[in-house]
Amino acid sequence: MTTDLHAVYRDLHQNPELSFEETRTAAIAARHLEGAGFEVLTGIGRTGVVGVLRNGEGPTVLLRADMDALPVLEDTGLDYASVNVGVMHACGHDVHVAGLIGAAEQLSAERGEWRGTLIALFQPAEEVGGGAQSMLDDGLYERIPVPDVVLGQHVGPAPAGALGAHPGPAFASADSIDITVYGRGGHGSRPETTIDPVVLAASIVLRLQTIVAREIAPRDTAVVTVGRLVAGTKNNIIPNHAELGLSIRAYNEDVRTRVIAAVERIARAESAASGAPEPLIEYAESFPVTVNEPAATERTSAVFRKAFGEASVLDPGQVSGSEDVGLLATAAGAPLVYWILGGADAQTYLAAASAGTVETDIPSNHSPFFAPVIDPTIDRGVAALVSAAREWLG
Ligand code: ZN
Ligand code: ZN
Repeated sequence: MTTDLHAVYRDLHQNPELSFEETRTAAIAARHLEGAGFEVLTGIGRTGVVGVLRNGEGPTVLLRADMDALPVLEDTGLDYASVNVGVMHACGHDVHVAGLIGAAEQLSAERGEWRGTLIALFQPAEEVGGGAQSMLDDGLYERIPVPDVVLGQHVGPAPAGALGAHPGPAFASADSIDITVYGRGGHGSRPETTIDPVVLAASIVLRLQTIVAREIAPRDTAVVTVGRLVAGTKNNIIPNHAELGLSIRAYNEDVRTRVIAAVERIARAESAASGAPEPLIEYAESFPVTVNEPAATERTSAVFRKAFGEASVLDPGQVSGSEDVGLLATAAGAPLVYWILGGADAQTYLAAASAGTVETDIPSNHSPFFAPVIDPTIDRGVAALVSAAREWLG
């Protein structure tokens, strides 16, 4: 293997691209897949790239990497920091891309040792929750073999080289909901001529707090956050409307459905209670719960323990962040195993852990300081994908 993966990684990190704009990244992935003998499809779901390596009778294994960066101004001080000012690989998707390139090349070189079909999938736009769905909507599984298992990894603030998948619900669902309530504006001195959308919005915010407290069972968890509340222009004007921006998280589709139904019910009922018209309820970004199939997860974790040692394999627990990789597995009717790959310098991490300062000292994903160490993160990411894929291939 002649590819210098560390150089590939530094180049990707230096040249991040936003969601659905990953044309340069996609071209790099396609070039490496072609060089490794894959049949390559490009432009799937706008900027997605898929490589298919047919190697005789056997299972079909899909390895997935997301490609997009974030609108973050990089502050890592790295000599390979972003040259695309205001755009940064702050979630480490560059690690995923470099790792999958390395794994695809290695599995191709080792193709005498396994049978089946290997799919290397480079997905656009994970950060906006639209990339996996756009590939599916573009006929992904009519164009490539349907996988028997979907595997992937996400780099995170754990010691570099550590690996672990949480069985069952592993990443929360996330739904962004925008609600506009309509009152009737007027002079601040004459409330009797108005329907005040500020009071209406305030009632909604308070009533929303009762969903988790009073409608969700104690054994379940959910989050209802109003992160945006906008109304009015001047102290003595009662405005016409108010806007609320919500973020909803859950670890179970039933809970997710119940919470969203309750949000709609409360927004409509509070509007009615104010004598206001029907509110406008709009759905923006949406991610389902990411569920690691328990048996497949145990099988993969056993491979990791054998390959990398017990000490390298951990259970990261449930992550409150969200992912759209699960859509690729659900649409295929296949199990998903999606693991965390540690990227933080091990010494720094252990020092912070013993001081109890991991939260403040170890930059998390989406931070302008997020900077996975190249060694051993990239090579471990490749090895994890290769060993997991080999377990599932014939
Ligand atoms: Zn992210
Ligand atoms: Zn991410």
